[in-house]
Amino acid sequence: MISVEEALARLLAPLQVLPAEQISISDAVGRVLAEDVAARRTQPPFAASAMDGYAVRAADVEKVPANLKIVAEIPAGAGFGGIIGKGEAARIFTGAPLPEGADTIVIQEDTERDGDAVRVVEGAKKGTYVRRAGLDFAEGDVLLHAGARMTPRHVGLAAAMNRPWLFVYRRPAVGILSTADEVVMPGDPIGPHQIVSSNALALAAFVTACGGVPVGLGNAPDDADALRRFAAGARGVDLLVSTGGVSVGEHDLVRGVLSEDGLEIDFWEIAMRPGKPLMSGSYRGTPMLGLPGNPVSTLVCLIRYVIPAIAEAMGTQRMLPERMALAAPVTFQPPLTYFLPVTIEHDDWGRPWANPRPPNGSGDFLSLAGTDGFVELPPGPNTYAKGFVTSMYRW
Ligand code: AMP
Ligand code: MG
Repeated sequence: MISVEEALARLLAPLQVLPAEQISISDAVGRVLAEDVAARRTQPPFAASAMDGYAVRAADVEKVPANLKIVAEIPAGAGFGGIIGKGEAARIFTGAPLPEGADTIVIQEDTERDGDAVRVVEGAKKGTYVRRAGLDFAEGDVLLHAGARMTPRHVGLAAAMNRPWLFVYRRPAVGILSTADEVVMPGDPIGPHQIVSSNALALAAFVTACGGVPVGLGNAPDDADALRRFAAGARGVDLLVSTGGVSVGEHDLVRGVLSEDGLEIDFWEIAMRPGKPLMSGSYRGTPMLGLPGNPVSTLVCLIRYVIPAIAEAMGTQRMLPERMALAAPVTFQPPLTYFLPVTIEHDDWGRPWANPRPPNGSGDFLSLAGTDGFVELPPGPNTYAKGFVTSMYRW
């Protein structure tokens, strides 16, 4: 058995970043940049007023009150070809270009208007409320870097940089194969001894949330021929993920059957609970992860291994877990990494604590529904004290 970190390093090592493609920024949230992005326009492109008021020469408002003649009105989006001379002002609005000759904005609240004249009652220092050209960034400035995952605020920034398109790494197609005689898809006809497949849909939802494209390959019954046929559907995906059938029972066919059909196993069994029977390899040249079928095991393995694999294929860093302290002591004897569902609870100072919620075997779904994620307790100590700080993954 290998450790969690060794397993992760080994399954990530052969993965290649997918080729780049060009997309519209409106489709960019969650995508990973394949290029450094340089601004195509200086922002602001010209010196502009930051307030509604009057554009003046600072020297004219050194002594107040000062009476100035209004020679122009400049709304945002317009310009003024002339020059503001001594004793003159322009009525100006937020975002409008500062006219030549003026160097300062006096806000409307500090003036009294009288027809074609304005009386400035409160002076302003030179440059007040002027946004100089390039205050934010200049054309050519690189503000977004290859490998960054686009967030909504990055989309706004790319738009301000006048970049309607972006080069991003292609989203990995992730084939999802469930394997079990006893499961049927939600809503389908179901026998008395069957259960509803939750894993395939949970996996697909997580894959989508992480930027991958789930490809449902269906549910293969525990039968060698059927399994081979269903697995063959994985032709063309970038990563194949199966759930169920990788353990040691006679009906756990994934390793045995697919090994005779193009599966090369790199490793199987990891020193962790739950999820120990996880298998990693390549099926007909496609990277494959075989996840155990228990819904909690499936999701722990998904978050700890599949999501990092998707991040790798998309050319970005995997997200680091949060660090959190245990709200209660935990005892765990086996020399395995222990993944333990927790709820996050806040103390009187607002600090988060991870409160252990051990699954009770049949309560797997309650444990998924009622918890916020899981902590990772490294092997070694048999007792983890209250306050023990460790990695916490949300689900
Ligand atoms: P296995 O890994 O095949 O030994 O399955 C372990 C447990 O997970 C069994 O109780 C299965 O019924 C359950 N299981 C397997 N596949 C699924 C699935 N797609 N959705 C929900 N539970 C499943
Ligand atoms: Mg099974």
